[in-house]
Amino acid sequence: MEIPEMSTVEELKEKAAEEEAVEEEKEKKQQQPTMASVLEEEAKRIAKKAEERIEPRTDFKRIEPIKQEFMAKYERFEPAARDSTAIKGAKECWRKYFFATVLAFRVPKGGSPIYFPFGSVYHKFRELLEIEYKEIKTPVPAADCDRCLEPAWLGAKELWPGNPTPGSSKWDYMTLDYLTLCCVTGFNWWKREKIGGQFEILATEQSFEVVLPNGKSSGGRADQIVRWNGRPWGRDFKTTGQTPEWYQKSQLDPNDQFFRYTHGESGLLGERIEGQLVEVLFHKKATKNDKGKPKIKSYIVSYTPAQIDRWEAEQVVIERQLDICREEDVWPACETFCGRCQYHSVCKAGTEMGMMSKLEQNWLQRHWDYKHIVNS
Ligand code: SF4
Repeated sequence: MEIPEMSTVEELKEKAAEEEAVEEEKEKKQQQPTMASVLEEEAKRIAKKAEERIEPRTDFKRIEPIKQEFMAKYERFEPAARDSTAIKGAKECWRKYFFATVLAFRVPKGGSPIYFPFGSVYHKFRELLEIEYKEIKTPVPAADCDRCLEPAWLGAKELWPGNPTPGSSKWDYMTLDYLTLCCVTGFNWWKREKIGGQFEILATEQSFEVVLPNGKSSGGRADQIVRWNGRPWGRDFKTTGQTPEWYQKSQLDPNDQFFRYTHGESGLLGERIEGQLVEVLFHKKATKNDKGKPKIKSYIVSYTPAQIDRWEAEQVVIERQLDICREEDVWPACETFCGRCQYHSVCKAGTEMGMMSKLEQNWLQRHWDYKHIVNS
């Protein structure tokens, strides 16, 4: 501190106190969290919650590796039965299948995008509504549906990891309040359906594993199997922030998941399943001119037996290709997908060591098991 000319002791004391106050203020500011540290903390909290929600799996069956040369130090988790998530990954790129399904570097360390738990809670809510309704011995739809609402919501809400930080991404509108609105929309849709009485629910959250003609297994977990107009159908619930036009044009047909479910559920039921009823909840961010109200649309995807036979023949060929990758422990890069791939930074590292270091830096090794789906 500079000593001003002609200063008295009192003036000096006053000046020293002022300087001290300024220093204290500075120190306080330094201790205050910055926006970046708040976001980092938030990401850690969500990732931790997601990790806690991964259930212990005791019935997971895997393929023992024939050869283990590429990234040999890692344990392998290739499932004995492949579901549509695994096969879609393989169709995008064999190496992506290796990273995500064989090595199971799948769960981002910074936490998954909020739309995964958002979809999980909505799914859980629909599942619990059915369970609650089934427990009422002689349901009278209009009154008893309302009784199911609260327990289903409370049960589903348990999976919520916490709201995203405002402004953290374009999905920041996916808060608990907005999720409540989506579940109320789903509830009203479900209640109307119960009062109408058109659907008989044969099974909910039903896992299946069926054998293909080459002895390999195809698996999945059906949201519902229902009887509608006297015939069995699969039913799948989806949530998306895209438009109905986009969904109808690009997501319904062809879609491996719907073929696989129709094929697997037919095997499970011992009766031909007609196809899938796909019930989609569309959500969006509110704007000046649009309140962002969620809405539901239902689509029908049906298949002839010949279509299912062709899909089955295709699976045999895909499985043969996977056999070759496994036997050689060579998982070719399919560069046409790189621009959209989450492992791009890994492959760009070039050397095997570099790639492994990128994998460990960014992902947790958690194997995918369709029987215990927790969208983390
Ligand atoms: S970045 Fe490209 S080569 Fe690497 S896994 Fe993804 S799609 Fe395959």
